[in-house]
Amino acid sequence: VEEVICPGCGLEMPRRENAPPDGYYNTSPECWSVYSEVLAAQYSNRMLFAQVHQLSVDSYAVQHAGGPHPDKSVDVHLAGLYLVLERGIRPTAVPPVLQRIAAAVDPWPHFTPPAVQYSINVSDVALVDSTPGHIEMVKRWAAEVWSAWSMHHADVARYVDRVNS
Ligand SMILES: [Zn+2]
Repeated sequence: VEEVICPGCGLEMPRRENAPPDGYYNTSPECWSVYSEVLAAQYSNRMLFAQVHQLSVDSYAVQHAGGPHPDKSVDVHLAGLYLVLERGIRPTAVPPVLQRIAAAVDPWPHFTPPAVQYSINVSDVALVDSTPGHIEMVKRWAAEVWSAWSMHHADVARYVDRVNS
């Protein structure tokens, strides 16, 4: 079976007949299908949704920077990680702040994605079948993604804090 490597997160999966991603993320169709499964699990579980849905969306987006993924999207999702992980904002309070940032920042800085081999990706989240385990894995995933982008942390803080202060 032919293995497909996701260009964003490095996830290796057997090639399947998957619909292409319905967006611009730098991802493989196989990785995108796993992400869709994880989102579906979160939409059907209030605890998961409240605690780690936003972190999952932001981690997945940032991990799939590059290629056709526009700077604005990468920058907004980096802001989401910054708000939760550095500023301690509740994940459910993040979307309105991101909307303000999305409307206010212009031009969007271009950040070169880090040359990193991630050890955690969306597949690790999909493979956990308990709610506490899912939450813990998303938190580890988000921390790894945010840490990998450390060379851009100061720039992210600058445009977020200018809007959200
Ligand atoms: Zn991927």
